[in-house]
Amino acid sequence: MVNKLMPELPEVETIRRDLQQLKGIKIIDVKVIAARVCRNITPEKLAIRIKNKIISDIYRRGKALVFVLSDKKFLTVQLGMTGQLLVKSKQKNVEYDKAAKVVFKLSNAKNLIYNDQRMFGRICAVDKLEGIDYFAALGVEPLGEQFNVKYISEHVARRSIPVKVLLMDQKFVAGIGNIYASEILFEAGIDPRKRSSLLDAKQISAIVKASKRILKESIKNRGTTFRDYRDASGSKGRFAEKLKVYGREGLPCIKCKTLINNIVQAQRSTFYCPKCQI
Ligand SMILES: [Zn+2]
Repeated sequence: MVNKLMPELPEVETIRRDLQQLKGIKIIDVKVIAARVCRNITPEKLAIRIKNKIISDIYRRGKALVFVLSDKKFLTVQLGMTGQLLVKSKQKNVEYDKAAKVVFKLSNAKNLIYNDQRMFGRICAVDKLEGIDYFAALGVEPLGEQFNVKYISEHVARRSIPVKVLLMDQKFVAGIGNIYASEILFEAGIDPRKRSSLLDAKQISAIVKASKRILKESIKNRGTTFRDYRDASGSKGRFAEKLKVYGREGLPCIKCKTLINNIVQAQRSTFYCPKCQI
């Protein structure tokens, strides 16, 4: 499966911003419909841990959402491929969507519903985030100051892999997936196959700038929806219309009219312009 599309940083960040309305709200109950999405905890234990806790904060790390509860413990949600977190008003005698896997009943007469058609997502409850492998190994945030020329230069001096594969390595930088890695390298004018150790200072600087610009621009447009991604109100993102190279195989490059190429790298589709990206 080459086109595994999953929510990346801008999509998860959009949901995080939507969910800020839940700060200060109490979780009064939780109904687990599919136990499989509870990865490090049984549904019964999850209920004991989070029931009657207030949501004090919701932040994002990479592609994951972190709910900080009033006892300073964490509830984490990784959306996988088809996960959605929707805030909906409670309605009596209305059946949940077939995709609903977990329903958090809230003190504000709303439900926070976790939908997940294919169930690759995961919900965990932990005392410390490092208790979850994903968080323990996660690299720097691309929108943070730590993602800079020095950081990348030091990293690529030790490691030579294709630059697109590097950008998608969550241990290197958190939250960039297939769509944004292709877009960032198009904007930076770099061939996705280029070995990371061969990047020069100018190219590294272009990657830093392009990463921040594209991720911010996508957040502004509430992310990219191809199939399943929705924000917390169930709406689609608008950034798909603004993609310059991803999914444009065989179409003319918007800069030079050369046809966009599609190759497979690390089992994932890469789109690039053979002329603009060197
Ligand atoms: Zn081009």
